[in-house]
Amino acid sequence: MITITRCPHGHEIRTEADRDSTGFCRACRKVSNDAWQQKQRAARALVQSLERHGVVVDPDALTFQFGSETADMDAVADRIVATYGQGIQ
Ligand SMILES: [Zn+2]
Repeated sequence: MITITRCPHGHEIRTEADRDSTGFCRACRKVSNDAWQQKQRAARALVQSLERHGVVVDPDALTFQFGSETADMDAVADRIVATYGQGIQ
């Protein structure tokens, strides 16, 4: 009988080289990396769009500055939807 080793997400593990230190496999890592890159592209597009419209984005403080006013996240979200939200379902 052949025992098939699988990662926590059910992908087949053929050799120990296919598994990382957390027990996940190369396929899991690729899915995770792809998801991260997709989120990063979306975030980059948002930041670039905001900056094109004169909004200053501070990546360390995660604040957005409109003119001379620094806004909190709820205010930022409200303003983003009000300004750029047409077409968002
Ligand atoms: Zn996996």
